[in-house]
Amino acid sequence: MIHIAIVEPIHPNAIKIIEDNKNYSYEVIENVEENNLINKLKECDAIALRTASLTSKIINNCNKLKIVSRHGVGYDNVDVNALNNKDIPLTITIHANAITVAEHVIAMMFYLNKKLHLFDDSVRNNNYDKLRIINNNIITVNSELYKKNILIIGFGRIGKELSKRCQAFEMQILVFDPYIDDNTVVKHRAKKIDNLEEGISIADYISIHMPLNKETKNIINKDNLKKMKKESFIINTARGGIINEHDLSEALDNNIIAGAGIDVYSQEPPKLDNPLLNNSKVVLTPHTAALTKECWLRMGQETINNIINFFDNVLDQKVVVNTSSIKNKKYE
Ligand code: NAD
Repeated sequence: MIHIAIVEPIHPNAIKIIEDNKNYSYEVIENVEENNLINKLKECDAIALRTASLTSKIINNCNKLKIVSRHGVGYDNVDVNALNNKDIPLTITIHANAITVAEHVIAMMFYLNKKLHLFDDSVRNNNYDKLRIINNNIITVNSELYKKNILIIGFGRIGKELSKRCQAFEMQILVFDPYIDDNTVVKHRAKKIDNLEEGISIADYISIHMPLNKETKNIINKDNLKKMKKESFIINTARGGIINEHDLSEALDNNIIAGAGIDVYSQEPPKLDNPLLNNSKVVLTPHTAALTKECWLRMGQETINNIINFFDNVLDQKVVVNTSSIKNKKYE
């Protein structure tokens, strides 16, 4: 019997895949403290992992572990070196969440430039003209997406889905991603920007879609925030820590930029003294950019199917992050 430890609950239909397969057993672990995971994961064959930290200490204490399957695509919560030392593959759910995250970015763009929440509030509170007319003059607080520049930083699965949606609004798509070839960018009817600061200075919107690592930590900071246009917005649905939160808060307070949309934080949940929590120029969501009904189901199913495909020797190598761990295995 192959035992799967599911660290934090996943969609019930994903669990049903295991229940329908007589070769597998499972348990769901809700307490993600390191000591509990050291104890609970010791004898499992596979781990289905959401956002809990999988440290080297936990991995080194696993006696039978053969695969870790991430529920999602980011894997900064996993010590990949520790997995590599034991030749344990790490898989991600590459087909599950790009569309949902791209739609979340569009929702944040509309929140920031259409301000429906403020208009709704003014109608309900008998301030019908507050956001329409001041001193007999019509005022316009909203703006269009049409012909605006969006700089997409990181042009992988999500960046590309976002670019398709922005094209529907006839936006100009600028891409900063040093690891993507020019042809890929051209094929997506976008323009490649080789210098991050140049892109930042001409963007009306910036949206971040790259992993958090040593190279990208604090890559957006006070030095380049000050190059942004005064009327521009920045959105981060990738990982907290890529934008320096303190510097972003100062840029908003000093009217250096117009607003921000933030789904991810340097510490999650954010501490109550995080300056962004009290800033009305920011729209905040609790790491839910991938949480639609459809995506939640897809992520769960893909997470479990990656494990089953691994044990059936039919795993698609594209879903494996550390391919060196499977170099001696044969896959169809
Ligand atoms: P992906 O691997 O398909 O694309 C990432 C892109 O970033 C790649 O094209 C890569 O070349 C580029 N990149 C790497 N380093 C870069 C750098 N220094 N500068 C510019 N570009 C760089 O990943 P994806 O599926 O598009 O996901 C992107 C990130 O979004 C993930 O790493 C994950 O952390 C995050 N994410 C968040 C949520 C959420 O719920 N908020 C959901 C899914 C993914």
